[in-house]
Amino acid sequence: MITIENYINGKNTTPLSGQYLDDFEPATGLLYAQCPNSDNDDLDLAVLAAENAKAAWSNTPAEQRSAILSGIADLIDEHADDLARAEAIDNGKPITFAKNVDIYRAAANIRFFAQAITQFSSESHGMENTAINYTLRDPIGTVACISPWNFPLYLFTWKIAPALAAGNCVIAKPSEVTPMTAYLFSKLCIKAGLPPGVLNILHGSGAQIGAAITQHPAIKAISFTGGSATGTLIKQTTANSNKKLSLELGGKNPTLVFADCDFDKTVKEVARAAFSNQGQICLCGSRIYIQQPIYSRFIAALTKEVEKMKIGDPLDEATQFGALVSASHQNKVLSYIALAQQEGGTILTGGKKHPMTGRCEQGYFVQPTLVANLSNDARCNQEEIFGPVATVQAFETDEDAIKLANDSQYGLACSVWSQDVSRCHRVAKQLEVGIVWVNCWLLRDLRTPFGGVKSSGQGREGGLEALRFFTETKNVCIKFG
Ligand code: NAD
Repeated sequence: MITIENYINGKNTTPLSGQYLDDFEPATGLLYAQCPNSDNDDLDLAVLAAENAKAAWSNTPAEQRSAILSGIADLIDEHADDLARAEAIDNGKPITFAKNVDIYRAAANIRFFAQAITQFSSESHGMENTAINYTLRDPIGTVACISPWNFPLYLFTWKIAPALAAGNCVIAKPSEVTPMTAYLFSKLCIKAGLPPGVLNILHGSGAQIGAAITQHPAIKAISFTGGSATGTLIKQTTANSNKKLSLELGGKNPTLVFADCDFDKTVKEVARAAFSNQGQICLCGSRIYIQQPIYSRFIAALTKEVEKMKIGDPLDEATQFGALVSASHQNKVLSYIALAQQEGGTILTGGKKHPMTGRCEQGYFVQPTLVANLSNDARCNQEEIFGPVATVQAFETDEDAIKLANDSQYGLACSVWSQDVSRCHRVAKQLEVGIVWVNCWLLRDLRTPFGGVKSSGQGREGGLEALRFFTETKNVCIKFG
């Protein structure tokens, strides 16, 4: 049994209450670790540490902050195999995916913001012969970063890297469902010489320590990634405070396949977009709309492609599709598959718990599932399932495709598959989302703005947007004498 610790004031510590939460391995269903169930007392210590550290850290030259962060990124690379294994065990994702996507990106996130801060600049506005304005962007102080379970270290670092690079001290809370790699990361921060108090990691439940963090008066900004309902709760909780909020929330992303697409490539990529990470990516394309002339041929080829995915033990390097993150999430996904059938849907492939033998016999494995014949207003087309369930529907014209894509409370991302460049521009312009991919999916340039509209969020992460979020803007206007 592994005992995970908090990271407060530069040290790994046990929770003051002595309370812990259970951490299960999704592939086996077995309890294998415990993480602190932190509370207000632990938070007070973490905030005190951050407040004590903030003057020195915010005044540390950007080059030095950058060098320390780069050192952490190097340590992630050095320990990539161990971190990938830990992520696969804790989350259920395939180890090869964990290494190539999660851990690779965790190091890349930190390196990116370590470099970006050395290039960060602000504006000046001259008023002819009257005055000059210049804009300062100073660190905010103590900020919070709260992250979900689907990309545990990847999304954790995506938030804390810009916060730290910009000169803030951070109270970070990883998901209690997948706490392991944030714990291992804290050890790397100690090794890299990150000054005590600059980053503090508190483990525990969202309802207890997550809520306490969002209410703490010393915390001036909250960067949150998670479900839309939690995002709304955080907005309500903080409504009477002056906290800055960045909210990256749920998605129910459309995939628009036009008849003139590059058929074979599109089939492969649409399958990947729907089922990568067992469909547990906020950006997964879970509503697949296909233009009528190729509808039947496309769904036949897509079904075949999905059935090729190798479902298996996450620790087997050949596995492409692993376990869902928890028993409760597995039950949620299976209940949506049952609902899809009640709503009149036809299961084209999947639809069941995947039978496993040996050490994975009790694991949370659900087959990648494609559902046809559901109307767009079916709950399975409107609600985020966040698992390996995608629906297929036909459309006739560009206008139909846009209407169906926008008929959602969510607005995170959309992928468009067509070889007609004018159509791609026209369609992209009319989509109510924050991110459009044309003839690709999840192709990420870390400089680009990232985030959604409608119930998918508020604000943008990525590149300068993140550095701007984690700084306070002040304009200074000097009148000429
Ligand atoms: P969640 O909202 O349950 O939890 C996210 C984090 O918030 C966890 O650390 C949790 O402990 C914490 N939390 C829960 N209740 C809280 C509260 N009242 N106050 C403060 N913190 C609280 O989400 P999840 O189940 O971990 O993640 C899945 C969701 O995340 C999906 O909806 C998915 O679409 C979304 N997501 C969005 C993005 C994006 O970039 N838009 C990326 C990944 C995941």
